[in-house]
Amino acid sequence: MNTTNQVNNQFIDLDFDAKHLWHPYTSMNNALPTYGVVSAEGVELTLNNGTKLIDGTSSWWACVHGYSHPKIVAAMQHQTAQLSHVMFGGITHRPAVELARMLVDMTSERLTKVFLADSGSIAVEVAMKMALQYWQGRNNPNKQKILTVKSGYHGDTFAAMSVCDPEGGMHTMFGELVTEQLFAPEPKARFTECFDAEELQSISNMLEDNHQQIAAVLIEPIMQGAGGMRFYHAEYLSALRKLCDKYDVLLILDEIATGFGRTGKLFAYEHANVEADILCLGKALTGGYISLAATMCSDEVAQGVSDSPAGVFMHGPTFMGNPLACTAAIASLELINEQHWQTQVSSIESQMKTELAEAVDYTNVVDVRVLGAVGVLEMKSTLNTAALQQQFVDLGVWIRPFSNLIYIMPPYTISSCQLTQLTSAMKAVAKQISLPSNDTNFISHG
Ligand code: PMP
Repeated sequence: MNTTNQVNNQFIDLDFDAKHLWHPYTSMNNALPTYGVVSAEGVELTLNNGTKLIDGTSSWWACVHGYSHPKIVAAMQHQTAQLSHVMFGGITHRPAVELARMLVDMTSERLTKVFLADSGSIAVEVAMKMALQYWQGRNNPNKQKILTVKSGYHGDTFAAMSVCDPEGGMHTMFGELVTEQLFAPEPKARFTECFDAEELQSISNMLEDNHQQIAAVLIEPIMQGAGGMRFYHAEYLSALRKLCDKYDVLLILDEIATGFGRTGKLFAYEHANVEADILCLGKALTGGYISLAATMCSDEVAQGVSDSPAGVFMHGPTFMGNPLACTAAIASLELINEQHWQTQVSSIESQMKTELAEAVDYTNVVDVRVLGAVGVLEMKSTLNTAALQQQFVDLGVWIRPFSNLIYIMPPYTISSCQLTQLTSAMKAVAKQISLPSNDTNFISHG
């Protein structure tokens, strides 16, 4: 790749990048191909060599309104000039108050308190801390464990890692710094399949045996994202809520990936009609324009936290409630409240169902699944992300496979024609992998 091409007078030194700049989950010894982006508009990224790519990832599932949206840009520009940042200790401001009001209005009735966190992982840490402090305030300090399910993903910080899939490689690496939690089997029945309540036998037994140590059950509602892009049955979630009530443990829902329309409902918990005691939000909260997350909880949880020996909730990062981030979130949520996302997501869903269906017959495709604005081809073997990435770039799209999954989660604003380009690229690449003569080129360690 040409490392010195310039577009819009922007030179990106990709050689320096490869030598000095760490990217997520990469080695500094063996840098993977990295593409320089100079701008993005609508659903298109422009590379430094002028190539335009249709984004199938919404930049890790966050940019639901697309890039450079005039409403979000204008709101942020205005706020930057007025108040970019101020400490949140002892000070508040309109963007934080307005955002909190919107979140309380949009989420279920039980969720009345908002803690603004910096990122999704931190929102999960905050949720876990709230649960532990809650039980201290309820004179039950032994309740310190989190019960979760396998194949989950909740972030990269230590407490968040402790609830990620135990076989996913995060646990072994960091030894005893990763707290031991309780893992039940992941939900089995798919979103559309028949549900058998027997599925919850194992989690129910674990709750029965250990509820005196369990502070909360933590789960991604309806869709397990980075742990495998698995969509599970809504009745699993409603039965789980009942078990939490029965055994007196809190339910923490991690809606960081699913929140704000991605699965076809505003929040994925609405598929099951359940309420969380604690809810984690992130990613699309700001439309993906700047990092911000939120942990919401009920009056009851907030009261328990306040009754704990500390008397206060023990968390408070420097950039808490950053006004610029809150402003981006308000603009993004105003766009969500205009409701266009509903028709957008449902037409994305039906188009993906139609266009991806044939891939189920490809030799190396084991499953095709679609829910809301998430479309997945599950392949037989682990994929070589770098090699496939280049193929996708050659086809004019930005799709980043991981593990054995080729998936898209496009911005809701994508046009039908652009979506066809994404699904066609997915099929073209998946089909090629299916050809035995090409297998060694594209399937490797991952
Ligand atoms: N929870 C879920 C369900 C996620 O999908 C992610 C990110 N993929 C996180 C938590 C962590 O969020 P962040 O990367 O913003 O820390």
